Amino acid sequence: MASIGIAGAGLLGRLLAWRLSRAGHRVTVFDPAGQAAPAFDGHGAAAFSAAGMLSPVAELESSSPGVARLGLRSIALWRDITAALPGRSHFAQRGSLLLAHRSDLGAAERVLERLRQAAEPGLAAEALDPARLREIEPAIAGIAHAWFLPGEGQVDALGVMAGLFEGALGVHWRFGSSVVRIEPGRLQAQGQDWQRFDTVFDVRGVGAKPDLPVRGVRGETVWLHAPGLKLERPLRLLHPRHRVYIVPRPGDELIVGASQVESEDRSPVSLKTAVELMTAAHSVLPQLSEARIVRLDRNLRPALPDHEPHSDIGDGLVRINGLFRHGWLLAPALVEDALAAARLVAAPQPQPLPAQA
Ligand SMILES: Cc1cc2nc3c(=O)[nH]c(=O)nc-3n(C[C@H](O)[C@H](O)[C@H](O)COP(=O)(O)OP(=O)(O)OC[C@H]3O[C@@H](n4cnc5c(N)ncnc54)[C@H](O)[C@@H]3O)c2cc1C
Repeated sequence: MASIGIAGAGLLGRLLAWRLSRAGHRVTVFDPAGQAAPAFDGHGAAAFSAAGMLSPVAELESSSPGVARLGLRSIALWRDITAALPGRSHFAQRGSLLLAHRSDLGAAERVLERLRQAAEPGLAAEALDPARLREIEPAIAGIAHAWFLPGEGQVDALGVMAGLFEGALGVHWRFGSSVVRIEPGRLQAQGQDWQRFDTVFDVRGVGAKPDLPVRGVRGETVWLHAPGLKLERPLRLLHPRHRVYIVPRPGDELIVGASQVESEDRSPVSLKTAVELMTAAHSVLPQLSEARIVRLDRNLRPALPDHEPHSDIGDGLVRINGLFRHGWLLAPALVEDALAAARLVAAPQPQPLPAQA
């Protein structure tokens, strides 16, 4: 049994705490947030602001095949992790839809071609005719073009964050503690002495600056309540100027997102983004006219210069960062690999990739 200190109670921090506590280690987690629940003030974990899409193929538009491979592994891991969490299931794998209006077919075809070139065989988008679209997603009517990505999934990000916190039995949570210095085998929280651990994890996201060359990339979302609108899976509108997704959440809610702005501005959502997101969502689902706006949210995605995730496994210190726009897609596989490399859990058995996750 090892003593473990974790800086950051975001997505990676909670997943590590949950996994390490189940493996029998003594775990302490530090985070400047005042409590485990989200404040939606733009300052907490990016994980709370995420739509929770697990989109290895759709994300290939802007990510590498390596990200897609990690994502396919993570989807299988999420299925098992979420099944072990308290409460109802927070995982679904019903595929996702790419949609385009008639006038935007050219722009959509360019995206689809990029996905075709980058995706593993068997994972490419399948064109849907109107009858098939009505059959699998009856809420969508009147959209000219649709494609199905069968292997994609989603998690309820808020439910999983709460479940990992509640399910990580015996973990010491130090909320209100900002870690200011980290070295192999020890860390220092603001105003406190150094604390020793066998292994320290630095998973502070954007807060790992300046130890890592990480930057925040602003993302804004609109959360809607739309009772009666039954959406089974995430939708993405392929639009020449905007990339807009609509993701169903428990309780008849939807998340419409997301902007991607090269800025570490954590101030409230701009009118421009709110109007663009809501206009695009309404163009796909006119039934949203009477939806209620629950929240306008924003946060910073932690990105390293190459936009790839990086794990640095040293003796007594492990850093994982750069999950950017794919944290939920990547976290379980990255955590399993890091823990195996640090010899804190048994190494995962190599498994052949499924043709469709
Ligand atoms: C709008 C939006 C939508 C997104 N949608 C998706 C999606 O659909 N699918 C997907 O896969 N990904 C999505 N993401 C990305 C995903 O949320 C991130 O990649 C992921 O949260 C990164 O995980 P992390 O643990 O590295 O960082 P975070 O989740 O940000 O957690 C970092 C933690 O470190 C803490 N911290 C900061 N400084 C310190 C310090 N000094 N000491 C101790 N702790 C500290 C923070 O308080 C926070 O709790 C989205 C992100 C945004 C913003």
